[in-house]
Amino acid sequence: MADVIGIPEAFSGRRYHAYNDWIKRTHGGRLQKVSVDAGFTCPNRDGSRGQGGCSFCNNEGFTPSYLREQRQITQQIDTGIEFMSRRYPESKSFLAYFQAYSNTYGDLEHLRNIYAEALAHPDICGLVLGTRPDCLPDEVLDFLAELARDTLVELEIGIESCSDAVLAECGRGHDFACTRDAIARAAQRGLFLTGHVLLGLPGETQESLMAGARELAGLPLDAMKFHQLQIITHTRLAVQYKRDPASVPLLDPVSYIDSVIDMLEVLPPSIKVQRLGSEVPPPLLVSPDWRMRLSLFPERLETRLAARQTWQGRLYSA
Ligand code: SF4
Repeated sequence: MADVIGIPEAFSGRRYHAYNDWIKRTHGGRLQKVSVDAGFTCPNRDGSRGQGGCSFCNNEGFTPSYLREQRQITQQIDTGIEFMSRRYPESKSFLAYFQAYSNTYGDLEHLRNIYAEALAHPDICGLVLGTRPDCLPDEVLDFLAELARDTLVELEIGIESCSDAVLAECGRGHDFACTRDAIARAAQRGLFLTGHVLLGLPGETQESLMAGARELAGLPLDAMKFHQLQIITHTRLAVQYKRDPASVPLLDPVSYIDSVIDMLEVLPPSIKVQRLGSEVPPPLLVSPDWRMRLSLFPERLETRLAARQTWQGRLYSA
């Protein structure tokens, strides 16, 4: 339990601002996300920006097994709620989480229909939309802002890195200026924004990571998700790693947690931490094999924050 003067009360006894604590406080309980695969693609796969996708990407790694055989959104939600209710019996409210690929990439009419089907489900109280920053034209943001007047809408933007060199190295197909611009336009419309970053990408250094963290500290983000780079089967990175493992240096759990802390120290206390790591199904994982369950990340982070006598926002300056 944190009891150090200077740690904000909003952290509820932790040394960082946990999204789950915040959502329980503001929405009266936990909101469980139910993954939905609406069959979107992404401009870095369909040829508009690129064809092979980002070097680390294999969306199967993030698709729950219960989705793989179903196509109808309503049916996916039913199955997801049944699954989540068994796992977390206290769950009463659910968000439809459009996670795979770029879920704002399509014409507006198509997006309207897809989101409307999810929102028509009686147990769904909002949407979480994962996307790339270059898939957020003004007309889509205007529509999302309109939806957000009546329902909860969270936009999850794949930042991955703030370094143009790192983004180019992983074949991302956009630069950081694009990310900054998308975040600013979405924030102008009052949307809840989560930034998704991937630590350990080839070419990222401690200097570039921290320069990025300071950039992010100045952006109007509401929440952040941190992930460690994992090499997944059927990706360009997997091919590179198998050919030359030394060309893809991978983080170990200790250096990863320390890097997350380095970033948290300079980020504002207002940012809610939604996620601290990821766990790829073992058959899809090439390396590194940390054998660390997702549920362990918060505990490891808290222990290390205490050992370093620090907390989120300690070095933040507006
Ligand atoms: S990580 Fe996202 S943007 Fe990159 S190829 Fe995969 S779906 Fe597309």
